[in-house]
Amino acid sequence: MARTKFAPNPEVAKQKQADALTKLELGIQELLESGDWQKYLRTQSRFHNYSFNNCMLIMAQCPHATRVAGFHTWKSMNRRVRKGEKGIRILAPIIRKLDDEIGDPDASTRALVGFRTVSVFDISQTEGEDLPEVETSLAGGDAGLWEALELFSIDNGVPVYLEASLSGARGYCQYDDTGKPIKIAVDPTLSALHKAKTLAHEIGHSLLHSCTEYLGHSTRSEKELEAESVAFVVLDHFGLDTSNYSFSYICSWQQGKDAIANLKASGQRIQQAASQIIDWVEGSFATGA
Ligand SMILES: [Zn+2]
Repeated sequence: MARTKFAPNPEVAKQKQADALTKLELGIQELLESGDWQKYLRTQSRFHNYSFNNCMLIMAQCPHATRVAGFHTWKSMNRRVRKGEKGIRILAPIIRKLDDEIGDPDASTRALVGFRTVSVFDISQTEGEDLPEVETSLAGGDAGLWEALELFSIDNGVPVYLEASLSGARGYCQYDDTGKPIKIAVDPTLSALHKAKTLAHEIGHSLLHSCTEYLGHSTRSEKELEAESVAFVVLDHFGLDTSNYSFSYICSWQQGKDAIANLKASGQRIQQAASQIIDWVEGSFATGA
């Protein structure tokens, strides 16, 4: 990428960032109102979280399995198990009501009394209606943004590493004992666009969130909304569209309805962090200073 590509343009920069936030807000609103999101969540809720042992059993019998459910669950999603497909055998707990001996009629207890074998099927063994999906990866190039963002983060005191196997995560921000961000890691197997998006997201965390805020479960959803919004605004500024991914990512952390209100409440913080990154990239990086 030619360094002149990120030439500074301060007059339009602020307006562009405000426009990007509006675009984000409208996109999330549209996703929430389209019904697609509700449909997606309903489908998700029908898939069990299998126990570790059952995951091992599924993997041993069907290594390529991605979506696994019982015969009737598939039927309820308008898909059928194809004739002749062999079920994947897993263990289902047998729970029985135990008679209460103390005499309280409401106090019947339930206990695990054993296991039985049941059959489940992978999506590849079924046919029928497509399942509603949302975007879980971004494809495409990054117009050289990764390099610029990496230098920004180093300049900000947080070196960037490429790390495979992040156990499901695409990146993370690490803090030291004093709560200072000291490291960002990004999955190298992602596309160039997705890598740059993830780096901008983690930089958002490093600029806006303390270690306790980053790790805290109760407030994590707002932090995820802020970090992903920073990434969206920064990439939008440089002409890279992440809306397919960012909208649904934010919705998944926000349980829908609070997303717009939280976005408005965090708007200023998001813009501040996004400006800091954009100004640096367009200033220091573009001029090579
Ligand atoms: Zn995050």
